[in-house]
Amino acid sequence: TIGMVALDQNGNLSGACTTSGLAFKMHGRVGDSPIIGAGLYVDNAIGAATATGVGEEVVKIVGCHLVVELMRQKHSPEDACRLAVERIVERQPKKSRDIQVGFLALSKSGEYGAYCLQKGFNYAVRTASQNALIDGKSHY
Ligand code: ASP
Repeated sequence: TIGMVALDQNGNLSGACTTSGLAFKMHGRVGDSPIIGAGLYVDNAIGAATATGVGEEVVKIVGCHLVVELMRQKHSPEDACRLAVERIVERQPKKSRDIQVGFLALSKSGEYGAYCLQKGFNYAVRTASQNALIDGKSHY
């Protein structure tokens, strides 16, 4: 998935995502990306979030909606992303490490963060003063 979340100069949040889906997917499969609340969610009062990875698992927890609701409960964007990833891990029969899933979030105040189950998740941040590639925190 390529997911983007943005905060404009008027303080309005927005988001978008796109994906080719998963390799070898079944014909007709619908992942998380086109489902608002799963692969993308924006609440202009709170924050915005997008997801990447195994869409089936993200859909089951309505992942990006969960991330934004956790931010509403005052969790930081990174913490909200971590809690959503952990919710997915907890649901796995053998606490599988094989699943690739990650979330990226931005708050109304401009704080951002991300969290991924596995290492190797980078994200880009662009502000008036910053143009950086950041190593996302990961569970493993
Ligand atoms: N989340 C996407 C899907 O499940 C896959 C991806 O691009 O990360 O369709």
